[in-house]
Amino acid sequence: MREDVDVVVIGGGFAGITAARDLQKRGLNVLVLEARDRLGGRTWSTDRNGFHVELGGTWIHWTQPFVWAEKERYGLEIQETPGCVAERVAIKVDGQVCELRDDQLGEFVAGFEQFFAEAPLVWERPYDSHYNWAAIKERDSLSVADRLQSMELTPLQRTSIGGFLEILSMNQPENASYLEMMRCWSLTGWNYALFNDAAARYKLKLGTGALVEAIASDGGFDVLLDTPVRSVHQTANGVTVTTAAGEQVTAKRAVVTLPLNVLHNVAFDPPLQSVKVEASKLKHVGGGAKVFFEVEGDPGAVMTLARSTESPLIGSFTYQRGEQHSVLAGFSLEPDALERSVADWQPVLEEFVPGLRLLSTFGHDWGGDALSQGSWCTYRPGTFVRFADALPRQEGHLFFASGDHGEGWRGFIEGAIASGSRTAVAVWRSLLPSRTA
Ligand SMILES: Cc1cc2nc3c(=O)[nH]c(=O)nc-3n(C[C@H](O)[C@H](O)[C@H](O)COP(=O)(O)OP(=O)(O)OC[C@H]3O[C@@H](n4cnc5c(N)ncnc54)[C@H](O)[C@@H]3O)c2cc1C
Repeated sequence: MREDVDVVVIGGGFAGITAARDLQKRGLNVLVLEARDRLGGRTWSTDRNGFHVELGGTWIHWTQPFVWAEKERYGLEIQETPGCVAERVAIKVDGQVCELRDDQLGEFVAGFEQFFAEAPLVWERPYDSHYNWAAIKERDSLSVADRLQSMELTPLQRTSIGGFLEILSMNQPENASYLEMMRCWSLTGWNYALFNDAAARYKLKLGTGALVEAIASDGGFDVLLDTPVRSVHQTANGVTVTTAAGEQVTAKRAVVTLPLNVLHNVAFDPPLQSVKVEASKLKHVGGGAKVFFEVEGDPGAVMTLARSTESPLIGSFTYQRGEQHSVLAGFSLEPDALERSVADWQPVLEEFVPGLRLLSTFGHDWGGDALSQGSWCTYRPGTFVRFADALPRQEGHLFFASGDHGEGWRGFIEGAIASGSRTAVAVWRSLLPSRTA
């Protein structure tokens, strides 16, 4: 096969399909090459005993303008996640599980406000890191652990902030950038309730697959599934992309949406800027596992929280409720979290929710998945200043779009759609002179 198109898009996650739709709608001929047998990338769902379960990216929020606009545009409904607005919150503080009491709520929220006290200054404009670049640079090397160590916090505050941010970054506090966490807090208006809701309250009722389908069918671009890209060669007039099967696609432009952690697995000629390769080999810190727990009966709307030093379960909450059985979504930083048996997890869960009977556990190993090599993106401490502008930078006929880079909600579905959308405009503009010539 040798196909000639205006734009070839490498990767069919939200960044790729958004860019493809927007470019095709501008009259260009677009082909998406996707290695998997489906579109959607790090969003993917399954049906489990009558429940629709998102194994990857799930929650969206109206503080996320691009994804919310897509939801509205295609008329998709949302569904609440019961455990995000829990009736019962069980926290493990200093080795002891206790229930968060109403009279502790003030202390709980005050901890976050204190931790993020300088966020309104540093991230006055969370979509524009250059607005206060000096403050960003000054704090680039700081980890969440550094910030925690510098503060006077109560044990409850230390656990709740530590546990929450371990989930948000999917790594230990030593490895997560304080700047990145501050950015999320700022994107939700420096407000705990919004911060919590944006993390895990609203999901698409028919699943992320419904949004993928809406964008793909509206876009009308061509797609080749099961088509991993092996190499990308730039010529004077465009690009030649070669697939693992040896097929070639030529195009005027390429939009590269490969996840950061696997970008270096594709051969580029000429080579990519060294900073991109360095960032890809270093990898973002989003690891861990989202583990689902199918339990007997209805546990109610519960939430659990702990530090990874205290429990293999850093957090969990009721995801779907049913009379016969329910599902909890949990998060773990343990490397073997998805291999652990029901017998292994039963006492862990029961410590937080006494009497809970676990029926099964399941999830997808995004870290072991050769096409993602990680979960969602959080930068390492000390890398923001070097990587933030460099990763989306155009190189000749190559444009880069990904949820793993860009301003605003990096690491989220929102970031992927925003990046795909912005990149489509840049690609289209770059083609204007040659199209009118
Ligand atoms: C467990 C988990 C939970 C998450 N939870 C949330 C959440 O609740 N809310 C939220 O907003 N975000 C969440 N995220 C993050 C969100 O899913 C991602 O940020 C977003 O989907 C990334 O989109 P993308 O298009 O940039 O990358 P991807 O979705 O990874 O798309 C890139 C595509 O490139 C393909 N590819 C890779 N290599 C090749 C190759 N050589 N040739 C061709 N194709 C290739 C991949 O198969 C993939 O389809 C979560 C992610 C995970 C893993």
